[in-house]
Amino acid sequence: MNIPIPGECRFCGVTEDKIDGDKLCWLGPSRTVCNKPGCVRAHYADRDRMAVLARKANRKRTPAEIHAIKLQEARDRRKRNRKGRVA
Ligand SMILES: [Zn+2]
Repeated sequence: MNIPIPGECRFCGVTEDKIDGDKLCWLGPSRTVCNKPGCVRAHYADRDRMAVLARKANRKRTPAEIHAIKLQEARDRRKRNRKGRVA
């Protein structure tokens, strides 16, 4: 995996001196992605992919288990709400 260099768009390779802060500026403080539509799209697609990979990497629960947890949480919430309403 190549580490992006701050001051250079990792998608189109635009460098700091081309950034005028008007038509072209950095997307975020990391200065590794410019605000060209293609680069913005690529950046978010990349980030989503990384998030999916990260989720897969530390996956401990199956979707069925997560579903069960959510159902349990909803049940607990309803129980609490009912109790709260009792005068
Ligand atoms: Zn770019």
